[in-house]
Amino acid sequence: MARQITIPEHITVGTLAEKLDLPVVKLVGELMKNGIMMTVNEKIDVDTANIIISELDLEVELVAEEAKDEPKITKVISTDKDATARPPVVAVMGHVDHGKTSLLDAIRTSDTAAKEAGGITQHISAYQITHGDRKLTFLDTPGHEAFSALREHGALLTDVAVIVIAADDGIKPQTVEAIRFARKANAKIVVAVNKMDKEGANIDRIKQQLSEHDLLIEEWGGDIVVVPVSAKTKAGIPELLDMILLVSDVEELKANAKAPARGLIIESHMETGRGAVAVALVQEGTLEANDFIVVGSTYAKVRNLETTDARAIKTAGPSTPVQIIGFKAMPEFGDEFYVVKNEKEARSLAATAAHGKSSSSQSGMTSSELLRIISRKTSVTEFNVLIKADVQGSLTSVADSLKSLDTDEVATRIVGSGVGNITENDILMAQTTDAIIYGFHMSLSSDMKQLAHRHNVDIRMFNIIYELIDDVRAELGSRLGPEVIDTPAGRLVIKGIFRTTKDEVICGGEVTKGKLVFPALANHLRNDELLETVEIVSLKRGPQDTKEVEKGEMCGMSYKPSDKPDIEEGDHFEFFTREVKERTL
Ligand code: GDP
Repeated sequence: MARQITIPEHITVGTLAEKLDLPVVKLVGELMKNGIMMTVNEKIDVDTANIIISELDLEVELVAEEAKDEPKITKVISTDKDATARPPVVAVMGHVDHGKTSLLDAIRTSDTAAKEAGGITQHISAYQITHGDRKLTFLDTPGHEAFSALREHGALLTDVAVIVIAADDGIKPQTVEAIRFARKANAKIVVAVNKMDKEGANIDRIKQQLSEHDLLIEEWGGDIVVVPVSAKTKAGIPELLDMILLVSDVEELKANAKAPARGLIIESHMETGRGAVAVALVQEGTLEANDFIVVGSTYAKVRNLETTDARAIKTAGPSTPVQIIGFKAMPEFGDEFYVVKNEKEARSLAATAAHGKSSSSQSGMTSSELLRIISRKTSVTEFNVLIKADVQGSLTSVADSLKSLDTDEVATRIVGSGVGNITENDILMAQTTDAIIYGFHMSLSSDMKQLAHRHNVDIRMFNIIYELIDDVRAELGSRLGPEVIDTPAGRLVIKGIFRTTKDEVICGGEVTKGKLVFPALANHLRNDELLETVEIVSLKRGPQDTKEVEKGEMCGMSYKPSDKPDIEEGDHFEFFTREVKERTL
């Protein structure tokens, strides 16, 4: 009898392999054979797992353990009577090169506290500044895809979206897309028309373009606020901050600073000597150093609580971005954190989440989905990729963006993904799965370059998300079959057969429908049944070659039979022309 193993209802591929004493690669391989491309960290459900292991002849049966209820996390739209005003959370988005990074830096340097601490040193995914006596929190989004990823994780993080448009360049499709994202997320929109210092800067043209995209500006009766700025000269930055505060005040943003602290992980990475470091946004309550927090299936004693530029702090209230050190394992981007009483509770809740239905269980598949995917496999051409990125946020962005490129015919399959540099394991995985490795925001060591070369593995490195996505789009496009357009031309009914060899059939008949053309292909039918599709070699009216024969006329033709010649009087040839077009995604 099969041995029973109890597992959580959704389990990561890695943990399952461990429980089954199987090499992960073997399990991933078996999943692939069944048309399921999954990475070590993705979760599958018990039904799917059972189907897969039955094919491995393991004599094991997996049984789902009962899931316990987890504490529910809700969004921070506080109706709490103890709620007090909180700073707005602002995301800056826009077309590449329009000055998103420069603007974020300019805003950060406008903050006195940051200057005192040594000014801008490195890229920061979130920070808080003081403007007058008010605080504002800024988020950098690695491409607006991250914004939608955050939204997908159920977080209404952003109160105000600042859309950056370069005054000398104008609205681009990505600008419109960013506005669409912001609207969907219910964020207030402030347009920062940047690079006003440049010659050719024309704010009226931008206002006009906005209205052409149904984005009516405030002075023309709409709801879009436009502020001219220059990240270079810093002109307009104080006005921009005033305006952000003004539009967010309409929302009366509040949170209860005394409630148990909770919030969202917005970035995580490993640091030598400090272990797993997470950047999180406190949404409610006040997080304190030495608190115990649970995030998905991991937990931390907040050993160090810091601002995002690594200054130690003791407490962090609502809307404060913080750096947290003390995690047992790296928390996932988009996951919620919440404070618990003590380590024991933290450990047990994290363990329950690891075994039970965690918030990210969407990646688990039911057996019916599994069957669908197996059958879908026959029609979908898959493009295998392995993605490595510098931080979890970028990784999620890239993965989410790639998913959105899938069509019914071609799809990207992420066979592996992770944070950190490309390793030997990645290269071997890419080789077995015939995948291309994409590296985002990192360098490639010469050892790995050589190893990849030896194993014939293609590694492509990118620093700009759009360029990476365009590359994948081109790869997917090249896997699309060409578009075939068949246009019917006319019908010939065979009245005489003159010569049949295995290479050529010469026959004649009458056009009973439409107009025959040459060159053409034809479907050869007998009693409406399709016998073959052939290429017409010649078309003749009398002894003369012709390009057209009208309905009612007699004509001769020859064609190349597809197999042994099989033709009878009374057979039909439905002529058609075929056009083949290249397709792009
Ligand atoms: P991002 O891709 O949107 O983050 O854009 P960056 O902040 O990297 O800026 C793109 C380019 O525009 C850089 O060369 C910046 O120096 C330049 N830039 C950004 N803001 C301004 C501005 O206000 N005035 C001028 N003249 N150049 C700017």
